[in-house]
Amino acid sequence: MNHVAPLPGTKRACVIGAGLGGLATAIRLQAAGVATVLVEARDRPGGRAADEERDGFRFDGGPGVLNDRAALEALWALTGDDLSDAVTLLPVEPLCRYAWPDGTIFDLHADDGALTREIARIAPGDLAGYEDYARFTREMLAEFRTRPGPAPFSAFAALARAAPQLARHQAWRSLWSVIARSVKSEHLREALAVPALIGGANPFAASALLAAEHARERSGGLWWPEGGMGRLAQALQTRFERLGGTVRLHDPAARIHTLGNRAHAVETQSGWNDRFDAVASSADLVHTWRDLLGDAPRGIEMARKTRRRAHAPGLFTVSFALEGAWPGIPHRMVLLGPRFRGLVEDIYAHGVLPQDQMIWLDHPSLTDPSLAPPGKSLFHAAVPVAHLGKLPIDWETVGPMLEQRVLDEIGRRLVPDIHDRVITRFHTTPRDLALDFNASLGSGFGLDPGPLATGWLRPATRDARIGNLYLTGSCAMPGGGLPGALASAEICARTMLENLP
Ligand SMILES: Cc1cc2nc3c(=O)[nH]c(=O)nc-3n(C[C@H](O)[C@H](O)[C@H](O)COP(=O)(O)OP(=O)(O)OC[C@H]3O[C@@H](n4cnc5c(N)ncnc54)[C@H](O)[C@@H]3O)c2cc1C
Repeated sequence: MNHVAPLPGTKRACVIGAGLGGLATAIRLQAAGVATVLVEARDRPGGRAADEERDGFRFDGGPGVLNDRAALEALWALTGDDLSDAVTLLPVEPLCRYAWPDGTIFDLHADDGALTREIARIAPGDLAGYEDYARFTREMLAEFRTRPGPAPFSAFAALARAAPQLARHQAWRSLWSVIARSVKSEHLREALAVPALIGGANPFAASALLAAEHARERSGGLWWPEGGMGRLAQALQTRFERLGGTVRLHDPAARIHTLGNRAHAVETQSGWNDRFDAVASSADLVHTWRDLLGDAPRGIEMARKTRRRAHAPGLFTVSFALEGAWPGIPHRMVLLGPRFRGLVEDIYAHGVLPQDQMIWLDHPSLTDPSLAPPGKSLFHAAVPVAHLGKLPIDWETVGPMLEQRVLDEIGRRLVPDIHDRVITRFHTTPRDLALDFNASLGSGFGLDPGPLATGWLRPATRDARIGNLYLTGSCAMPGGGLPGALASAEICARTMLENLP
């Protein structure tokens, strides 16, 4: 822990949660001269992107790629340093391989020529339609980049403010309907819709605004931080501490104390208690309102409202190390099942655990051999499943069965003798997300980024009543995945700086 006494008169802020969103918020505040304390429940930074050591292997639990290099570079530049001095980013190519049970394979490339050849191969009639869609995705990205906007104070204000943009881009349409009007091949439609699912959104319901992710990946590329996502989180922590910030790990915030309409102190489970001019939480929204502010009327009111909102699905993950090198399995792959819409409906609406599944398979040791000893490989498989509110099953019993099913499927489709090659394996369930991250309903992504919880319509950065309380990270505006967490940090820090007394 680092203790630097702030100069008299210096403003003080507390950021709760050291995921990538919380780290980015804290760095921005500290770089602007606000003495900032970052409080994290777990013993390491990174949140969902933290890593974990098992049997001599270092496994990353969350995102298998970095999809917003530009935002990270901008963050580093703000601190007067160069990202490349701290972290080596390795390119991931192809951006993703999609594979179906009928044997069809489609590689999404950043390079125009290579992608055109792939589309011509699996869906020759869709070349012009894809171009239309790609243009649309670039417009969406420009909208997100130029107009994340100041924090609106209520959902109604947000809707009113956003209405012209929403109308101009037909954002009331679902992502799927925009994809389907452009391309006819079911395989291509599914491949273009999957990134929304990886951000927690149902492509059949979520706003077409989410198409921006396609343009972001294609223009900015996908990257892997050498050493893993956990290393990146450590580098961010070091950067923050070098700027003079203070990190408290392994000490969960227990209360945000309020006085009238002000948050005035944060208390942790260890009994540490300090006063602040402003507080930002990047922890789960329900947890923040119910557990950290639960003795204030505003906390009770907002916990009730937030609990009623739709949450994104849970995630089931299997991390495993294999004997052998697998150069034919790309860094990022999606193994689609026989159904797409039906499977999505089972996860989002029906709350059942289907026999079939969609597996997002990452193979980071292909890009970064430093992650595994020579002749061995690391994999991470994630399967979206209904959250605990929709599927209240006993994950202690179901987890081992689903782990076996996921490995069997990967064996059938990619590594025939997988069970003989496994060196180590373990899984995490929505229950673990609830226990380890205070994630409401074990959701992998917080609020469902549905049509009324995307972009400008996600929970506001600054609370409408407790004027010095802020929400940041992927739970808050503009939300959704790593790019959302980093954008949210920028909006949150800027709003805090504008409003610090
Ligand atoms: C398996 C998986 C795969 C993913 N893949 C992708 C992907 O490919 N692309 C993508 O864009 N996104 C992906 N995501 C989502 C991405 O990881 C998250 O959106 C992002 O990491 C969220 O960062 P955050 O800082 O907002 O939240 P978090 O990482 O959840 O950080 C919140 C932090 O708050 C801490 N906390 C909670 N309660 C307290 C408390 N009381 N006191 C102190 N600290 C507390 C938690 O321990 C945690 O460290 C994936 C997520 C998972 C789980």
